[in-house]
Amino acid sequence: MAEPDPKEIAVLVARLSSEDSFERLEAIEELARQTQLTFGFRFNDPPAEREAAIRRWSDWLKEQKRRRDRKQQLDAAVKLSGGIIDLASLKKAMEEIPAEQIQGYLHNLLLKMKVEQSRCEACHQRPATVQVTVLKGGAYRAHALCEACARERGDVLA
Ligand SMILES: [Zn+2]
Repeated sequence: MAEPDPKEIAVLVARLSSEDSFERLEAIEELARQTQLTFGFRFNDPPAEREAAIRRWSDWLKEQKRRRDRKQQLDAAVKLSGGIIDLASLKKAMEEIPAEQIQGYLHNLLLKMKVEQSRCEACHQRPATVQVTVLKGGAYRAHALCEACARERGDVLA
């Protein structure tokens, strides 16, 4: 299922406050359809109960926004270019990611590095099949080499 459009969801949540009970009914049905959530909102409840449910919707909207922002910040934080990861930004990102997600995050990062470096840096011809990571000047520099060049440089033992 596609992610619900945050703007559309916000518009629907605003309609829960409508004076028109039919509009409230339509809004909560559409919200339930798109998010599988209701937060206990019933279109014909007394105003105080509706307001309490709307507050739960508002809190949820804020939390969703925080999550989207955090994900964007993380994607922007780790500067990855030509196999160079900025170590300070990576460290900061690690602090923000829940422990159980770090492994998946690093895995994706390494995949990105691989895609960026599909060609050997030394000969620029053969596909890079060997990755050599060197810590230099506060940044990890990953050298992607073909096996022949890696052997020539003495980076590969085999
Ligand atoms: Zn090469």
